[in-house]
This record gives sequence, structure tokens and C-alpha cells, in this order.
Amino acid sequence: LSSAPTLWDLVARRAALTPDRPVLLQGDRSLTFGDLRTRSERVAAGLYAIGVRPGTVVAWQLPTRIETVLLSLALARLGAVQSPVIPFYRDREAGFALRESKAEFFAVPGVWRGHDHTEMARRLGAKGIFEAYDDSLPEGDPSTLPAPPSEGTSVRWIYWTSGTTSDPKGVLHTDRSLIAGGSCLAHALRLTPDDVGSIAFPYAHIGGPDYLVMLLLYGFPAVLFEHFALPDALAEYRRHGVTMAGGSTAFYSMFLAEQRKQPPGTRLIPSLRLLAGGGAPKPPELHHAVVREMGVQLTHGYGMTEVPMITMGDPEDTPENLATTEGRPPSGMEIRIVDGEIRLRGEAVCQGYLDPAQTAAAFDAEGFLRTGDLGRLTDSGHLVLTGRLKDVIIRKGENISAKEIEDLLAAHPLVADAAVIGLPDADRGELVCAVVEQPPDADELTLPEVVTYLRAAGLSVHKLPERLEVVAALPRNETLRKVLKYKLRERFSRPFP
Ligand code: ATP
Ligand code: MG
Repeated sequence: LSSAPTLWDLVARRAALTPDRPVLLQGDRSLTFGDLRTRSERVAAGLYAIGVRPGTVVAWQLPTRIETVLLSLALARLGAVQSPVIPFYRDREAGFALRESKAEFFAVPGVWRGHDHTEMARRLGAKGIFEAYDDSLPEGDPSTLPAPPSEGTSVRWIYWTSGTTSDPKGVLHTDRSLIAGGSCLAHALRLTPDDVGSIAFPYAHIGGPDYLVMLLLYGFPAVLFEHFALPDALAEYRRHGVTMAGGSTAFYSMFLAEQRKQPPGTRLIPSLRLLAGGGAPKPPELHHAVVREMGVQLTHGYGMTEVPMITMGDPEDTPENLATTEGRPPSGMEIRIVDGEIRLRGEAVCQGYLDPAQTAAAFDAEGFLRTGDLGRLTDSGHLVLTGRLKDVIIRKGENISAKEIEDLLAAHPLVADAAVIGLPDADRGELVCAVVEQPPDADELTLPEVVTYLRAAGLSVHKLPERLEVVAALPRNETLRKVLKYKLRERFSRPFP
């Protein structure tokens, strides 16, 4: 391997080492490391035949399936630039990604979960639309392919931030930065070749290739979930003997609720040793309850699209550190706190943004990325997150911009002003609560009316409010008349169970 191997180098090396070991398990299908290499090479040849070349930008909006991993690896094999789009994104975010990335091809699943992605792609003016679901993956003869890329330092990935604080930003990654994140994660979680993982989050998320890197480095398999739902998912966990389940706060409480339905002394998933997740706030009480009642380790970490793996709890750390911090940074990740804001430098940090002006604004003079997150380091070097410079709600692991919803609500004729807040919720992490100020003479709005209105305005389904509060006046500060959201949170929160 060269000093900066590519993702494809890892695939080839692992396929040579353990070709017959399984890597991806989905329903009744399983794929070995050897298959992973040969099948994605065939797909690479199919893509080459339709005109994809090294450097060609290809966006894809596909669910978490074996085929999606093959397509993504095929693009890595070709040295194309890929831009994954979360499958439940709709016109606003998908259109943004397509326009900004200037993608020459767009891979879609056709009609998926009742939504016609092909039709949406046409409506958005996407170029080179093709379906890549099940048997529709393009395939060809690998002997027609040019040599794979030789270095991992070129930009080959454009990921999209959640668009919480402004429009989504296109984040530029190299194979090297993704491999750095994945290998740090694998070390942090103390993995072994005997582990069995699971991917329940969208593979189009930045965590997708990071997870794959772990599988390639350690040679163990993961179960993929296209639709993650209990109780089927539990049956899959048991069937494959999953030892490590990923997810976020919503996951932990879902598992805990199931555990509480079991007879005393029975473990929900006997093979499970570790729940590992991150990306959203996690109440310490929930952490302790999961560990105590499920008999598993729980580690939680901090990441962002720009740096998918920043810190992760070490399963062997103290219960207190695991419950109340995000863990420590891996070696090679430098963390600095400047005026309360977390800044980062290291191999796993992205190259910047599609927009050079955003890149210039994001990095300080010494090359540290400004995260926009507030935090502190404890004496033992553990990171504690204390907030965000800008406002965000994280529901079921998805970051939702309060401002986006507020702006739409404020345009409603019966609304004087609106504030959108996240309220702690055991199932979702946070739920979206819209607080609207209505003029005294206006007809009082209901939640269904607001939801219908926001849907019609183009808001994605996963961002729709679940709770509506109508007030005569929003609480505001004296000087700037800015809405005091902490007061709203205090007023409308219920204590965590
Ligand atoms: P945008 O950058 O477009 O405004 P975003 O920052 O929400 O959107 P992501 O990259 O998906 O987009 O989210 C990363 C952010 O999620 C982090 O910067 C941080 O604010 C939050 N986050 C990540 N991990 C945790 C965690 N363990 N606890 C609390 N918040 C977290
Ligand atoms: Mg961000």
C-alpha cells in the first residue's frame, strides 16, 4: 500500500486476505469480501460504459442495500467523485445537492416507499438519471476498466451537511479522510474479527463508508437494514448474532423499551456486547438504564459531516465518563477550545467545502476547523458538549434547522411570529415543537392545519412538528427583542422519564 491508500486498496487487500468471509448480510442475502470486490468491479465497468470517468461527479440517492454499497465502491474503483444524498430528502435538499455538485449522473431507486424518485429527479432537471436498485445496476466487463486511482488524497466525496444553520453545505472528503475516521472508530470501539456489526442508519450518511472501512480493516460482517423496524430487526440481530449495534439516542431508548417487555433475567439480544452511536444529545439517565438493564456496553461519540469521527467513548472507560462525556479524541485528532468553540485539526478533517468562501471562513490561521459547537475538555481530556453557536433540533438522529421551519411558519397569514424548539423525548431524542404567536382576533391554529401547511410549503416529512403551542406573546429579551427559547423549553418540557 502507498502512504495514502485508497478505499479500493482496502477492498482489494481484504478480498485477497479473506475472500470467503461474509461482509454484508441483508435478509436472506449475503455477500463475501471476494464478491464485494468482483461485483463492484463489474458495476464499475457498467458505469464506465455509460460514460463515468475518473473525476466525473455522480450523485446517488439510494436506500441502505447491498447494491448501494456496490455502486459506491464501483465509483471509488473508478476514481469518480460521488455525492450521496439521504434517501428521504425531497425536492429542496435533493435539488440543492444536484445543482451545487453539478452532478453529471444521478442514481435513483425508482419508486421507493411510495415516492417516485425518478419523477422527482426529472422535475429537478437532473442529468444522466439511472436506476440502481436490485437488478437494475449497470454491469460490464472489468477488463475494459482503466487502472484504479493510485492515491487517496484527491477529493472523491461530496457530502451534504444537514442544513441546520443555513443551506446545506457540500463537504469535500478524500478517501484518506474517510479511512482515517473509520480506522479511529474501529480502534475506539475495540473491535475484533469476531464481531458482527449492523448498519441501521442511511448508508448515504457519512457514517456509511466509515463503517465499511471498519469491516475492511477487521474482516467482519455487518447486517444492513433498508427499513429498520421492530420486531423484525430484533429477529435479524438474533439470527446473525450481532455483537455491535449502531444508532443514536432514539435507538437506545427503543431497545430499552423492548428490553423492559422481556421476562426478568432475559437479555433482549443475547449476542450484543456494545451499543455504539452518537451525533445527538444523550441523557445520562438513559445511558445508565441501558447499561444496567440490557447488560451491554454503551458508547457515544461526537461527529459531524466535516469530521465524521471526532471523539468516541472507550467501552472500558468509567461508567460516569461514558454517561456524561463524548469520550476522548483519537491520536491524530487535535482539539482546541477557543472562546468556548471546539476547533479541530487532523487527517479525518474534510478538505473544505464546495464553496471556497465557506472554506476560507471555516478554517482558522493554523488550519483548525471551526465546528460551530460549544464544548469543554475535562481534566482527564474528555470532551463535554455544551451547545451550539446556532440553533438546532436533533430528532431521531436527524438535524433539523429551527430557522427553516420558523421562516415558513412566519409566512402563514394567521401567524404573527414563530419559534421552533426541540423538547426532550425518550423515543426521538428530541421532538419538534412549534410555538406560534397569533394575533388576538385570529382563529386558533391546530397541529394538523400547521402540518398540512408546512407540507404544502415543501418541508420534508422528517422535519414536521409533532407538537403545536399557541401563545399570545413569545418571551423576548429586552434589548434585541430576540425570542428567549430557553424560556419556551422550560415551559413546555416534561421531565425525562
Ligand atoms: P449545518 O452544518 O448545515 O448547519 P449540521 O451541523 O446539523 O448542519 P451535521 O454535520 O449533520 O449537520 O451535524 C453535525 C452536528 O451535530 C455537530 O456539529 C453537532 O452540533 C451535532 N452533534 C454531533 N454529535 C453530537 C452529540 N454527541 N451530542 C450532541 N450534538 C451532537
Ligand atoms: Mg454543521
